[in-house]
Amino acid sequence: MKNQSVKNLALGALLGLAGWVAGPATAQAAEVNVYSYREAALLKPLLEAFTGATGIKANLVSVKEDALLERMKSEGENSPADVLMTVDVIRLVAAKEAGLFRPIAAPAIERAVAPEFRDPEGHWFALSIRARPIMYAKDRVKPAELSSYEALADAAWKGRICVRSSSSAYNQALIASLIAVHGVDKTEAWAKGLVGNFARTPKGGDRDQIAAVAAGECDLALANTYYLAGMTASPDPRQKAAAEKVAVFWPNQGDRGAHVNVSGIGVARHAKNPEHARRLVEFLVSVPAQRIYAERIEEYPIARGVEPSATLSGWGKFKADTTPLAAIARHGAEAIRLADRAGWR
Ligand code: FE
Repeated sequence: MKNQSVKNLALGALLGLAGWVAGPATAQAAEVNVYSYREAALLKPLLEAFTGATGIKANLVSVKEDALLERMKSEGENSPADVLMTVDVIRLVAAKEAGLFRPIAAPAIERAVAPEFRDPEGHWFALSIRARPIMYAKDRVKPAELSSYEALADAAWKGRICVRSSSSAYNQALIASLIAVHGVDKTEAWAKGLVGNFARTPKGGDRDQIAAVAAGECDLALANTYYLAGMTASPDPRQKAAAEKVAVFWPNQGDRGAHVNVSGIGVARHAKNPEHARRLVEFLVSVPAQRIYAERIEEYPIARGVEPSATLSGWGKFKADTTPLAAIARHGAEAIRLADRAGWR
């Protein structure tokens, strides 16, 4: 009993840093502790809906940097985390490889999430799809000039491409997806060609690349779709005006499909509330939660039968790369070394 209250005090102090959603912690309260890379404001509607549907309180620790994985490692079996949520597949796989997850099996989850979007052993599951297409300046580029990620290394694009640093997990996963198809040597040659076509040294995030295309600093960018959706819906008229100058091109539609990453979740190996954790995963792939992902977060729903938002639907249907994410993530470390050799800073 004493141990339990000491633990709850420590947990309360910890969670207090990032917003303690629940009321007073008691040993009896039905709750689940969520560690997340995702912004608290984005998760809040999902966790509130979960509590509304199940009566289980969700306590959220939201941290943007890699500190979260390290924290779970160092906390070991004392970790209060029941689940870990990330915004890219490479961290999900890293968490699995560090032994931070436990496998779970639930027919509802397997029905909702296609096999390429979950760990074959049930350690992690994608919750939403984050597509990374080519974005182009409507007034300077014709879609007919575009075809594939591979073609971005062609000389025609010299000095015309903006993309953020290769240290971004999004670019890391994209490079890894190319390694999965073409191997290291060909992908390295491609990355060198791409770097040779950069309009500037990489700086800023995806939104900055889209803004640079709108401002005429470059003609093409690689960016995740929800950033463009966010700019389209922005209350800032400058962001909105920038988004209107940029269009989406879905690459590789004649072969493997456009690269997609995911946000996802795994249940902690040392979860104290594993049953509540499993119910949270089940809830997050259910239709009501998937509608929140679609409408409020503007990502592509992972569950079959839930439509994307009007903005995303407006960019048309596309074929997504069906290479299993686990097979892509295997090349994550190599992708970093390769980008380095190619001079993609
Ligand atoms: Fe992002």
